[in-house]
Amino acid sequence: MIRFVGAGPGAPDLLTLRGAELLARADCVIYAGSLVNPALLGLTKPGCALFNSAEMTLEQVIAQMEAQEALHHETVRLHTGDPSLYGAIREQMDALDARGIPYDVAPGVSSLSGAAAALQVEYTIPGVNQTVIVTRMAGRTPVPAGQDIASLAAHGAAMVIFLSAGMLDALQAELLRGAYMEETPAALVYKATWPEERLLRCRLGDLAAVGREAGVRRTALVLVGDFLRQAGERSRLYDPAFSTGYREAEK
Ligand code: SAH
Repeated sequence: MIRFVGAGPGAPDLLTLRGAELLARADCVIYAGSLVNPALLGLTKPGCALFNSAEMTLEQVIAQMEAQEALHHETVRLHTGDPSLYGAIREQMDALDARGIPYDVAPGVSSLSGAAAALQVEYTIPGVNQTVIVTRMAGRTPVPAGQDIASLAAHGAAMVIFLSAGMLDALQAELLRGAYMEETPAALVYKATWPEERLLRCRLGDLAAVGREAGVRRTALVLVGDFLRQAGERSRLYDPAFSTGYREAEK
């Protein structure tokens, strides 16, 4: 059995209890070594086989899973954050389906949540922002038509941009072609929840310069949108004048 497990954004104690249990039981762990905190490998049992997928191709990963399966071993495939976001798990699941190898997925805390927690912000502020766009810039890997940054930026919603810290000049220019202004607040969040975490808040107009000065080129998220001001209306859910399914409005 193959267990895809979300490792969380970095801090080892942000792994789920399920993920910890699966790691402790695993005979083999194939981990995304470029981003997974190596401290998590300390949760494995003695003799557990460890493979760093950063040095492997998809074919080698699948071959290793197949070999472990033939030994009736349990394999954890450890992905950073939550595996459903830029985890490249679809192609692995397809290959496992083709071979009749069973698997399941244990979700993880995405860096998109880790970054918001580090900044102590809420993405959804009533009256200001109710939408979060999760995306990445086209780089060496393209994005589908209609999903370029400038088109998505036309909404003026909260945007969380993965895998793009190495292209901040182009990213800033694309964002400014949308609904955002030079004054729109932005944040570059480097290694959220790791000891070396850095939180760089700035105006969108200064994003690329701030990134350059800090030397941040990877393992960072860009957040942009008026939600970062954290000012807006209070929520109806906890408003004394508003009835909910659990509570009558106060008279
Ligand atoms: N599945 C992961 C994302 C993998 S793609 C998740 O849910 O978070 C890798 C990209 O994620 C990095 O280039 C960076 O943009 C972002 N990332 C991953 N961990 C991060 C962290 N701790 N802080 C900031 N960005 C992070």
